[in-house]
Amino acid sequence: MTVRVIEVAQRVLADNDAVAESNRRRFHEAGVFVVNLIASPGAGKTSLIIKTMEALADRARVGVIEGDVAGSLDAEKVLGAGAQDAVQINTEGGCHLEAAMVRRALDDLALDEIDLLFIENVGNLICPTHWDLGQDLKVCLASVAEGDDKPVKYPEIFATSDVVVLNKIDLAEHVDFKRERFYEPLRPLNPRAPVFELSCRSGEGVLHWAHWLLGRR
Ligand code: MG
Ligand code: ZN
Repeated sequence: MTVRVIEVAQRVLADNDAVAESNRRRFHEAGVFVVNLIASPGAGKTSLIIKTMEALADRARVGVIEGDVAGSLDAEKVLGAGAQDAVQINTEGGCHLEAAMVRRALDDLALDEIDLLFIENVGNLICPTHWDLGQDLKVCLASVAEGDDKPVKYPEIFATSDVVVLNKIDLAEHVDFKRERFYEPLRPLNPRAPVFELSCRSGEGVLHWAHWLLGRR
């Protein structure tokens, strides 16, 4: 008898893609533009959502799906900062969000009351790369405080994102961040993705990014 090998990983990802497509249809029917925000822990995902929301205060109603291993801290933060609606997903150890988790969260999210939905993925630059959630835009967020070697070490997320945001640029000289060490490997990986340098702390560059995002909607 021959051993049968089942390609579980591919099958699971194919199932995920089907759910992601149905999420995408649901978002489009509701007229909601969706951002899948991927970054390592501490890069400033929640801060970017809050600053973008503030910059677009009168122009877009923002909803947030927060993905975290545990707790509801970030959902509370974005609601306190004026999000129209927010839902927290706890993955209970899971290191990425999947389309089915987002579909489940949509039961609790007032889609018809929002224009722009941020999905804050679990802090991780590796596996969130492979899981389509039904987004319009996949955003890779990095910060200078993490170092300038991220495109070399995690090429896939930089290669497959629609846009790259580089946060904490006000700290660049304090943490010895060298732009050429960041950009030289990034450009061949992804020549088409625009890169936005900004600082959520000082506010520098945030308006430029927020207006570009609004234009993509
Ligand atoms: Mg966060
Ligand atoms: Zn994972």
